[in-house]
This record gives sequence, C-alpha cells and structure tokens, in this order.
Amino acid sequence: MAKTLFEKIIDREIPGSFVYEDEQCVVIKDINPGAPLHLLVIPRKPIPRLVDATVEDQALLGHLMLVANKVAADAGFGEAFRVTVNNGAGAGQSVFHIHLHVMAGRPLKWPPG
Ligand code: 5GP
Repeated sequence: MAKTLFEKIIDREIPGSFVYEDEQCVVIKDINPGAPLHLLVIPRKPIPRLVDATVEDQALLGHLMLVANKVAADAGFGEAFRVTVNNGAGAGQSVFHIHLHVMAGRPLKWPPG
C-alpha cells in the first residue's frame, strides 16, 4: 500500500514541523493554519478515517485525545482549545490518515462552518 502523506512526514521523507512524538503518535504544525495554534495529532498507525477505527483502536484513540490535551496546554491554551476530526470528504477530510486538529488562539465559533 502506498504511504499516506502523513506517513511520509512521520518517516521524514517530506518535511514536517514536529512539536511532540511518542511510540504511538506524532504532533505537527498544520501547514495551512486556521488559528494561531493549529496542530495535527497523528497516530503512527494509518487508520484512514475515524469510521475505519475498530475496538482494537480504542486505547489509541484515547491516547490521541490525551496528547491533544498535553500539546494544547504546553502551547499555553489548555483552558480553551478545540479538537476536531473530519471524517470523510463530505466533512472536509482531505488527508486519509486519521488525525485530530487542535486549534486555539482565536474565538472559535459554534457550529463550525
Ligand atoms: P483534513 O482536511 O484531512 O481534516 O486535514 C488535513 C490537514 O492537513 C489540513 O488542515 C492541511 O492544511 C494539512 N496538511 C496538508 N498537507 C500538509 C503537509 O504537507 N504538511 C502539514 N504539516 N500539514 C498538511
């Protein structure tokens, strides 16, 4: 199977601005930030979409959420940040390797557009 864009970044085949990594995931800065803080929490396992995750991935998905907490807090936004998963092209997903968007640093309207 061809590597996803994010696998290539994780493998340092294309550049990425890394802010955190561990054995299960990495966190990079979004190349086209939609807020002063816009990070992507990406599991090393290339699950394409949230809907493709199974019960086997339950602990991994929980880990990604806790890492989102950590990187938001480390950036000084621990009290007000948004975590988003776009599932499917119709919901705005463009990279088919599951990831959490962590955004903060400006007023975040609800519901998002
Ligand atoms: P999605 O639209 O799939 O929910 O989110 C994909 C995100 O990846 C977008 O916010 C987009 O700006 C970001 N992105 C796309 N290509 C690259 C890249 O090469 N490097 C980084 N750091 N982010 C990327």
